Amino acid sequence: TERTLSIIKPDATSRNLTGKINAKFEEAGLRIIAQKRIKLTKAQAGTFYEVHKERPFYDELCDFMASGPVVVQVLEGEGAIAKNREVMGATNPAEAAPGTIRAEFAESVGENSVHGSDAPETAAVEISYFFAGIELV
Ligand code: ATP
Ligand code: MG
Repeated sequence: TERTLSIIKPDATSRNLTGKINAKFEEAGLRIIAQKRIKLTKAQAGTFYEVHKERPFYDELCDFMASGPVVVQVLEGEGAIAKNREVMGATNPAEAAPGTIRAEFAESVGENSVHGSDAPETAAVEISYFFAGIELV
């Protein structure tokens, strides 16, 4: 089984959507094997999203990710990385398939409710950014 790092973003935690989003993961067969609610500093958000540092929206993205609490979580299941991205829907909610998290809950391309790792290598790095091995059972 595979593991992926998921983040429920500040726009979703502020609207009390953690449970509804977690239900989508569980209905898709993804198991939430670790989870915590934290507030990132802008510097921590910047390190997490370092791959995007040359993109025009980087500063706005880091401000947003530090604007309120997030829920960081590890999801586990068969093909968890791809399955999670399918459940999330397209980055832009206007293009997200019906029934996906972003179609139902996201506010805009920036404030789009969830993050999910995009490959096994990034999943491993992102999981270890937030969780110690001893927390993953
Ligand atoms: P994530 O990495 O958060 O799971 P993603 O892989 O669908 O989302 P990326 O291209 O990796 O999308 O962009 C990372 C995040 O940056 C997006 O989720 C979104 O919050 C923000 N973002 C992407 N494109 C834009 C944009 N054009 N304007 C504002 N914010 C954007
Ligand atoms: Mg991404």
